[in-house]
Amino acid sequence: MGWEWRESSFVWFRDVSPRDGLQAEHVVLKTEDKVQLVNGLARAGLPRIEVTSFVSPQWLPQMADAEEVMAAIDRKPGVVYSVLVPNPKGAERAIATKPDEMTVFVSASETHNQKNVHRSIAESLKGFQDVWAMAKPRGITVSAVIVTAFGCPYEGVVSLDAVLDLAGRLRDLGIHEIALGDTVGVAHPKQVAGMVRAFREKLPDVQLALHFHDTRGTALANLLAAVGSGATRFETALGGIGGSPFSPGAGGNLSTEDSVYCLTEMGIQTGIDLDQLLTITRFLVEKLGHDVPSKVFHAGGKMVPVNK
Ligand code: ZN
Repeated sequence: MGWEWRESSFVWFRDVSPRDGLQAEHVVLKTEDKVQLVNGLARAGLPRIEVTSFVSPQWLPQMADAEEVMAAIDRKPGVVYSVLVPNPKGAERAIATKPDEMTVFVSASETHNQKNVHRSIAESLKGFQDVWAMAKPRGITVSAVIVTAFGCPYEGVVSLDAVLDLAGRLRDLGIHEIALGDTVGVAHPKQVAGMVRAFREKLPDVQLALHFHDTRGTALANLLAAVGSGATRFETALGGIGGSPFSPGAGGNLSTEDSVYCLTEMGIQTGIDLDQLLTITRFLVEKLGHDVPSKVFHAGGKMVPVNK
């Protein structure tokens, strides 16, 4: 592909299964099961966990117990517990539950933003300004996700310049960690490598994270292209569950287990214990009552020698 491979020796994962994953499920997990999921992820070594969402329960009944979940989880020292907030109203609810981080989201395309949150990109950014003003004095970090950063179900191709421009506007608001989401799973490795390089060059003061969906089977390849281009932060979901209920055609998230297995085998550290992680996957599958897409969950983290 004509690029120099430059991986980092450590990669950070944020598991988004308790939010991005569960919000796409028809089965609504009990509050205590959500709490067990979050605590299990922390025990397995996840440095960052997206616990829940403060989107109105009217839109997202699966997350109606956001306050209860936040109150009941253990807070393992060093782990960043983040919550998704759509607007200042959501942030107000979230702040009362003392998250370490609030994540706001905006689409790279105007049409998707309108369909997703019923306002323009400019209106979303204005709201983030208020969220940031509420968070800062309380020592809560604000990060952002640019969804449909690699392609939009309504507008098609999203230009690299449009994404970098939007990221720059978020940075100007005081947001210094931005995740680029391939919401509908159309990104390919060459596109990802180009995006990561351009982003790091244009916004060197912003922490870049990547969020891939495996709708077309390219998610792990995209993660590797990003790692090889120097990216160190990823958002993945246990079991590979998820897919947005608001994005037509969205498939599951890239699986945390598959990502951790692959990077660990390559000698890249993640701080995550794969065996412990798979224990939580088994718990999740039992509670969901259906299978999950993760390959490593099915095959196991170790090769079992065949007895001849
Ligand atoms: Zn996702």
